[in-house]
Amino acid sequence: MELRKDPITRSWVMTGDEAADGGPPAVTACRFCPDSPDPTQVIAALPTAVGWSARSQVHPAPLYHIEGEPDRRADGIYDRMRSVGAHEVLVENPVHDRHLWMASDDEIGMFLRLAAERILDLKRDPRIKYVCLFKDFGPGAGQEFAHPTSQLTATLFVPRRVLYELRAGREYFNSKERCVFCDILSQEERQSARLIEAHGDYVALGPYAPRVPYETWILPCNHEASFERTGLSKPGLRVNLAALLRRTLQRVRSITEGFHLVLHTSPNSLHPSKSLGYWKTIDDDYHWHIEIMPVLATKAKSYTFKEVYYSPVSSETAVKHLREAKIDG
Ligand SMILES: [Zn+2]
Ligand SMILES: [Zn+2]
Ligand SMILES: [Zn+2]
Repeated sequence: MELRKDPITRSWVMTGDEAADGGPPAVTACRFCPDSPDPTQVIAALPTAVGWSARSQVHPAPLYHIEGEPDRRADGIYDRMRSVGAHEVLVENPVHDRHLWMASDDEIGMFLRLAAERILDLKRDPRIKYVCLFKDFGPGAGQEFAHPTSQLTATLFVPRRVLYELRAGREYFNSKERCVFCDILSQEERQSARLIEAHGDYVALGPYAPRVPYETWILPCNHEASFERTGLSKPGLRVNLAALLRRTLQRVRSITEGFHLVLHTSPNSLHPSKSLGYWKTIDDDYHWHIEIMPVLATKAKSYTFKEVYYSPVSSETAVKHLREAKIDG
């Protein structure tokens, strides 16, 4: 596998012939349970009196490798490089079937804290431009492991969607001197038709222009560019975000089983690249958030097939259903 840059959209893609690299080594026992006979290397753990609450392990078949040089080079008009970076599995809970929406707010909070600590640690490497936290759940979403896990990738480039957001956030800030996400929040709070729930310092809402039915965002009410700097060492903040994440996932899962979840946070400010020069206003113009994209099997064709996202449920209707969903506590 290698990374190639699309010269038109300037986004990187990972491509190659998978068979040549071989798939992940086959195992019978879960690699992420505390008593696993065959765990991958443990990178960090949040200990508790009885063991650990959340921990990070090397991905058994990593897409990115920390060793070696990216070897970035031109190929005529094209650009390519080796997939240098990091790829970790974040074990959300030691219990094999205790998923995020079933765990206690304390446990979810510990997972969020571990995620923040791992992102901070990976960003100490100035080669790393971006760290992405994501979770795919359900067969239609490409779920990889049965155990409750999320994944972290640290890359030498900024993923495409985040790059769009960074550029748009900066342009908006340049013309209005305000954060576009803060402006979205204040309008949504005023209009309330797309507001799902506010909890502590966080809000869950349906975006004005959803890409898929029931798309949901979670944002901090107070402006903050970086998730990892958001003060998740403070138990109060952590538990509020944990509770809202749990309740939101329960709402989403009242509609459909599978979903993609991704955390969008600011890029690495230690990266020496000149292209970062234009991220001078990043602390003011970007606002971290979580995006949840539910996977509705029957609707899959309509939005993968078309070049324009097609979402046959309006955000206002989706939010009504999500608000009314039965959730426990
Ligand atoms: Zn397990
Ligand atoms: Zn903001
Ligand atoms: Zn985003």
